[in-house]
Amino acid sequence: MGMVIVDHERCKGCGYCVSACKNKMLTVNSARRNRSGYPVAVFKSGADCTGCALCAEVCPDVALEVFR
Ligand code: SF4
Ligand code: SF4
Repeated sequence: MGMVIVDHERCKGCGYCVSACKNKMLTVNSARRNRSGYPVAVFKSGADCTGCALCAEVCPDVALEVFR
């Protein structure tokens, strides 16, 4: 089981992490924006995150931190 922390101020809402997660644990929420005005990725609560870190590997802005 894993958990992901999103640094919202680094996120640009590109959605690469959303596509990378086979367990659909991440969404980009346009209702929630950071100080630069970008919609941000949000980690869903639940036990389906494996901690595989694929989301963090594809993030071009190094906005994701994965804990196992
Ligand atoms: S660590 Fe793996 S399972 Fe968890 S949110 Fe990232 S891609 Fe999905
Ligand atoms: S890949 Fe990184 S920058 Fe893109 S939406 Fe996900 S956390 Fe944000």
